[in-house]
Amino acid sequence: MTSQSTESPGQQTAGQQDILAAFRQAFGHDADGVWMAPGRVNLIGEHTDYNEGFVLPFAIDLKARVAVRALPESRTVRLLSAQGSGSQGSGGALEFDLDHLEPGGEYGWASYPLGVAWALEQSGVTVPGFELYLDSTVPLGSGLSSSHAIECATITALTELSGASLTAQDLVLLTQRGENDFVGAPTGILDQSASLRGERGHAVFLDCRDQHAELIPFDAEADDLVMLVIDTRVAHSHSDGGYASRRAACEAGAAALGVPALRDLGPEDLAGAEDLLDDLTFRRVRHVVTEDARVLETVAVLTSDGAKAIGPLLDASHVSMRDDFEISCPELDLAVDSARTAGAIGARMTGGGFGGSAIALTPRALEDHVRQAVLDAFASAGFGEPRLFTVTPAEGARRLA
Ligand code: ADP
Ligand code: MG
Repeated sequence: MTSQSTESPGQQTAGQQDILAAFRQAFGHDADGVWMAPGRVNLIGEHTDYNEGFVLPFAIDLKARVAVRALPESRTVRLLSAQGSGSQGSGGALEFDLDHLEPGGEYGWASYPLGVAWALEQSGVTVPGFELYLDSTVPLGSGLSSSHAIECATITALTELSGASLTAQDLVLLTQRGENDFVGAPTGILDQSASLRGERGHAVFLDCRDQHAELIPFDAEADDLVMLVIDTRVAHSHSDGGYASRRAACEAGAAALGVPALRDLGPEDLAGAEDLLDDLTFRRVRHVVTEDARVLETVAVLTSDGAKAIGPLLDASHVSMRDDFEISCPELDLAVDSARTAGAIGARMTGGGFGGSAIALTPRALEDHVRQAVLDAFASAGFGEPRLFTVTPAEGARRLA
């Protein structure tokens, strides 16, 4: 398949000149290059990853770009972000020493680039000191994985500047190591797999047990559909107790049912499970088991009938998260319901839950109408104004200049 940029060459060059100039201004000399990695949206497959199941995210056309210069004789790292942070009081770049990095330390956003540098070194790659200027269009904390966009852009740059030869799978696992052991976030492989492996017009089907990845055609445009993201702007946190308790319920359910992970159950096992489990644990299990089945069906339907046919699967996923897994919230439910009522063909909350974003697959001709309906519904409910934008399945991490 072709993997052309969604931008025209002229726009792309202009874009890179912008960040190259910002780098020069910040550090007083030229960058070696510019690398990018996108944010992601999970099309379907929520809370299935840690149950060794299936997920289907796609890389989006919002991305983190990093301009980087290697400092070969040095162990110094200097970091600056166009989105504000970089000035620890001094107005200049944040500065670190690669030989004095502490896993779990309080580094703020710097923990993301430092974490992947650390993970590379842990794996035996010698990383040079470097200067990095970050400029990202991925909104922070909306559930679109702005943090993984930084990590994946940085690890792609550092791998090349270190002269290491690593596979996409190596980068996925090293990014996970940086997140788990340096940043201190117990995340899986979903986000970085989408960001590193995504391709334009495709979603990334992932088996979280054996980590097999496969590109699945997902071309909403071909069906005159747009993927609308509704960022509720309600704060969420993956380290919050809701996530931990869902995870614990899944583990308890698997143990009670005598399987290594909920991935080992199918919808046909649910009747028996209901007899063995208390109601709450059963509903948690039912979400995961049916969600795995929905991911597999979405892959099949996308391949046979295209994006226009997946609406009911998105709807069913939301209902399952709302009623069985109980990770939605009033703002997410309103986003989904108002978008569907106004003509979206399918909608669901996406991401870990308790806030963040919903997605609504919407006929292009109805986009403005759906947007307005969602805004009106939020205003009527007295909720804060959500942020609405469309995303398209885009290419994964790569060098831009
Ligand atoms: P998400 O990854 O879902 O967007 P996270 O809480 O995991 O949310 O990551 C958000 C954090 O990533 C921010 O608090 C900030 O530390 C960092 N971050 C993301 N984008 C930028 C940016 N452009 N500049 C500086 N820090 C950023
Ligand atoms: Mg994140």
